[in-house]
Amino acid sequence: MWLLYLGQNEPEEKNKYCTGKKADMRPKVHYSLYKGLFFSEFNLGFGRPKSDTCLNCDRIHTQLNNPDISEELKSKLSNEKDLHLRKAQSAYNLLSEKSLKAKNGLCDVFTFDFQQNLPSPVLTTSDIFYSRQMWTDNFGMHDCFNNDGIMHLWNENEAGRGSSEVCSALKKTLLA
Ligand SMILES: [Zn+2]
Repeated sequence: MWLLYLGQNEPEEKNKYCTGKKADMRPKVHYSLYKGLFFSEFNLGFGRPKSDTCLNCDRIHTQLNNPDISEELKSKLSNEKDLHLRKAQSAYNLLSEKSLKAKNGLCDVFTFDFQQNLPSPVLTTSDIFYSRQMWTDNFGMHDCFNNDGIMHLWNENEAGRGSSEVCSALKKTLLA
């Protein structure tokens, strides 16, 4: 980014950098100054793109980023997004409320979902990258009363991810 800055504002200095004449450089804004200002004066950060995002949010986000959409559609999508986020928030609030009740022994609350799928084997060889790997499903349950995490692992040659498999895992946990 500092080089982009130099390219725009001090192109001769960037040219010295790119042609290996770093010792001759006399930029007005040195790398250390640029870096210091970047970290202290701007509310910016770097991160990996989000993974496992919601299909609805992605669809609305993509449609809203289209510069050709009408104001009417834009407003409709914004409302849809607000409603969607409010529903998600209310589900989180409900979970927090019920989890607190479970911790006090007033009710039973379990949460469950599939964790990230695990490939086998885990190797970086390019032949493996292009080959079909065997997937292992990890279905996790959380008991909100005692904070116990229970994992159910099965690979794809044993069972799929359908309702029967999930119910079997649930039943196994609840009867244990
Ligand atoms: Zn969403």
